[in-house]
Amino acid sequence: MAGSEADIDEDVKQILDAARYDIGKFCIEECNAYCCRKGYLVLTPEQMELTLQGREDEFFEKGFLKTLSDGNYSLYMGDKDYPCPSLKDNMCSIHKDPKRSDTCKAFPISIEDNTIYVSKRCLAGNANILYPYIARLVKKGFVLPKD
Ligand code: SF4
Ligand code: SF4
Repeated sequence: MAGSEADIDEDVKQILDAARYDIGKFCIEECNAYCCRKGYLVLTPEQMELTLQGREDEFFEKGFLKTLSDGNYSLYMGDKDYPCPSLKDNMCSIHKDPKRSDTCKAFPISIEDNTIYVSKRCLAGNANILYPYIARLVKKGFVLPKD
């Protein structure tokens, strides 16, 4: 997953942002925020505090939050009763916060070097809903991975 998009041209960023924004209805109504219910997030201390919303102790006790050797944190989202603590009504309650995890900001479509990556975990990607945005990126010279 791409981290920073600092080096990407503004028009390409706009295509990526539009893709992420335009699948919002599908995310909420069809997918039920799968990516916020399954998987792991690596978080810096600041991101952890923002994302856990005061539930650090509870998540530590359950074993769903762990401290990593580099001082960051690993948040496990897999238990049906413990999705990401920032998920409210199938929406990310910290979506507009610039301190949100870079992984979340870049999901599910990102550019690294000249290549377009769409997460294989994303139902919108698997349903080809992102195709119009991918086509615009391909027109600009970006390529899809070969596999
Ligand atoms: S997995 Fe894809 S479609 Fe589902 S909520 Fe996440 S970004 Fe949206
Ligand atoms: S921070 Fe937001 S986008 Fe990221 S996993 Fe949690 S609810 Fe989903």
